[in-house]
Amino acid sequence: MDTLRSFLAGSWCEGEGAPVTLENPATGAPLAQVRAVGSLARATAWGRQVGGPAVRALSYTERGERLSALAKVMHEHREELLALSVTSGGNTRGDAKFDVDGAAGVLAHYARLAPELGEHPWRIDEDPQVVLKTGKLRAQQILAPRLGLAVQINAFNFPAWGMVGKLAVAFLAGMPTLAKPATATAALAHRIAELFLESGHLPEGSFQLLMGSAGDLLDHLGPQDVIAFTGSAATGRRIRTHENVLTQGVRVNVEADSLNAAIVGPDVTAGTEVFDALVRDLVTEMTQKAGQKCTAIRRILAPPACADDLVAALSERLQARAEKTGDPALGEVRMGPLTSAAQLADARAGLSALQRDADILRGDPTRTAFLGVDEGQGHFLEPVLLRAKDGRATDPKAAFHHTEVFGPVSTILPYDGSLEQAAAIVALGGGSLQSTLYTSDRGLITGALSAIAPLLGRLVVVDEKGAAGSIPPGGVLPQVHHGGPGRAGDGSELGGVTGLALYQQRVSIQASAGILARTVGK
Ligand code: NAP
Repeated sequence: MDTLRSFLAGSWCEGEGAPVTLENPATGAPLAQVRAVGSLARATAWGRQVGGPAVRALSYTERGERLSALAKVMHEHREELLALSVTSGGNTRGDAKFDVDGAAGVLAHYARLAPELGEHPWRIDEDPQVVLKTGKLRAQQILAPRLGLAVQINAFNFPAWGMVGKLAVAFLAGMPTLAKPATATAALAHRIAELFLESGHLPEGSFQLLMGSAGDLLDHLGPQDVIAFTGSAATGRRIRTHENVLTQGVRVNVEADSLNAAIVGPDVTAGTEVFDALVRDLVTEMTQKAGQKCTAIRRILAPPACADDLVAALSERLQARAEKTGDPALGEVRMGPLTSAAQLADARAGLSALQRDADILRGDPTRTAFLGVDEGQGHFLEPVLLRAKDGRATDPKAAFHHTEVFGPVSTILPYDGSLEQAAAIVALGGGSLQSTLYTSDRGLITGALSAIAPLLGRLVVVDEKGAAGSIPPGGVLPQVHHGGPGRAGDGSELGGVTGLALYQQRVSIQASAGILARTVGK
């Protein structure tokens, strides 16, 4: 069986740890193996010493041209990458496109931003501020690329978008990357890394790939390095509290779990465009990538006016998806499996926890027969819709406010339709990446900007006029800020030019007005 090698300190290496087998999550067929490498001291130093200067020697415009060339590489190998995403990640072709085309989209977006960033290595953050009114002393904030290494640790659900998106932002900002994909779905990330490295578009040292576990990686990071982590809150906590990370003050950005909500306004009733968009979005968010999306809707706040109609419409649509759940290599399949046996076990355990406070309305978590696979084969879970038991929607201890079931699972929470109760329920999730407000009520929307928006990284509004042109809220676009407070990790990624700040140092240059104008200036 092939061993997927790491690319560290300028060469490919197999690693010497115990082999871990990667498998097709629909059929269980083994695909390849990975082995953890030894000490990462040399690779981290090499990234800083060789990769850092090489990236910073390029202007923003030149970096943008390289990113654009990488997007082209992805387009040229698109069919191969989509096929690998299906076999190695349990993705339908549609899910595969979401990841692979999304990755190329982030590259293209950051490539387009490059020419706006000027000719200096730094970026001007603010116009100069007067420090002393009597004199000519001024201060100007700039953002300068950090001199360390960007360590990017990714989750299993988006092996392409996660790795490529982080690389695009760090590269344009001026930092070298060491990417660590999640092991379960690393085959796709590995192939993309191979294509990028073979392309010659990335200067030496600017991109390294670590397969297998993180090993002693965090022990070798220092004060100019950045960790961009995406994954579970538990791993995020472990990374944040790692002794060397704390001692060295390594910058850490965490993108973690999220209990995103759909808030249905009391004005929304069956038969309206907003209602139709709501049903479309809920089905997409529950079933796209088999619900393994950090931005998927986990809690549905439904007012009395539409709760029954919503349950009926959702149940019918989810039943159709359940019947088309199976091996995504079959064209007719609309939803694939979860990514691993561990994910399925976690999702089933999470469902048991939810059932303490909610009843299953549709879906059988124990089902074992799916399209195109032998009974019991693969890590499948059909869509499961629950409804909170009476009085539990507002219970701070209820499991649906704490447990992220990372699968095709969502819970309807009946609420009274008021902004106050909606805000209180959203807050019980402890901070989310996104939540979506379905309403045309301007008062409710304005109130949500103060009462709900601060609990989130992104508030999506779907109203009567915008419903037809809206897109499901789980899609993360490169021009839009990504990251939410509290349990979502309090991170900040993407968001166009603002995303570069993660990899740059904000520094005030305090000097005479003349020097500032002649050296730092725009
Ligand atoms: P995970 O188990 O926390 O793993 C995430 C990454 O961390 C993997 O690459 C993993 O490597 C690595 N890792 C594990 N232990 C580590 C350690 N001690 N030091 C350094 N790295 C370590 O999460 P996951 O199961 O892959 O992803 C699912 C979770 O990610 C969900 O909770 C989801 O909500 C969240 N997520 C969040 C976002 C977001 O943008 N906020 C996006 C996607 C997913 P191995 O795979 O080799 O163990």
